[in-house]
Amino acid sequence: MTEPTETKPVRHLLGLSGGKDSSALAIYMRDKVPEMEYFFADTGAELPETLEYIDLLEDYLGKPIVRLNAGRSFEHYLKLNGNFLPTNRTRWCTPELKIRPFEDYVGNDKAITYVAIRADESHRKGYLSTKPNISAKYPFIEDDKRIEDIEEMLETASVGKPKYYEWRGRSGCYFCFFQRKVEWVRLAERHPDLFKKAQEFEEYHRKEGRTQTWSQGEYLSDLLARREEIISEAEERDQLDQAHPSKRLIKSLRTMDDSDPGCLRNDSLTSYSFLIE
Ligand code: SF4
Repeated sequence: MTEPTETKPVRHLLGLSGGKDSSALAIYMRDKVPEMEYFFADTGAELPETLEYIDLLEDYLGKPIVRLNAGRSFEHYLKLNGNFLPTNRTRWCTPELKIRPFEDYVGNDKAITYVAIRADESHRKGYLSTKPNISAKYPFIEDDKRIEDIEEMLETASVGKPKYYEWRGRSGCYFCFFQRKVEWVRLAERHPDLFKKAQEFEEYHRKEGRTQTWSQGEYLSDLLARREEIISEAEERDQLDQAHPSKRLIKSLRTMDDSDPGCLRNDSLTSYSFLIE
């Protein structure tokens, strides 16, 4: 870690998650803060679509996106954590794979981090940190930028959305325990190798006599056996959402359900004082 110096300028940092909001913020801020440093905390378990998209953004931004954790696999962190799978309740992954690498990267430097919370989701708190040398800015909230503005920014920049949005609603690890059951089914279709790998982690756990599963309440093999039922339930729900979009929004605001908790956007991470994504 570097020691702070009197003369060292404040650093401006923008973390990319591989999701649409942080990507749009990078595009939005590119010419406003030319000294911006971009980074991406690679969990070692990212989807190929996410990695492709980060490369695409790097070209657009015309600057390197620093890869934190470069060269470290998810298995490295799993071993460090006693081979316990991360789950919603034992969620060591976000602090270890996202927060700590970021805080190490900042060190003791004074820094401003730019947070991609939109004006239409300003109820979110997200990732909070205790480091006094880091403060946060919320350009989308300050400038009243909403989902439709974000989508327009991505289209205008000809970057578009990451391809995984065709089948999944969030960035992050392929095995993220926040993903919906139908997203697991789609993972099995799109990336059978990754689904199999996730199953292997789960099987290892089971053999060790542990009961945690990636998806709430059932093993991935059982989930996949219910494929048709899960798809039909998801289609039914989508139809209901389209017929009653306002009800869906209210439910989402109340429960912080599966609309997009994201890795650093989830309000269960309350022991930190600012948010990257
Ligand atoms: S994407 Fe999901 S599994 Fe990966 S670090 Fe974030 S919360 Fe954990």
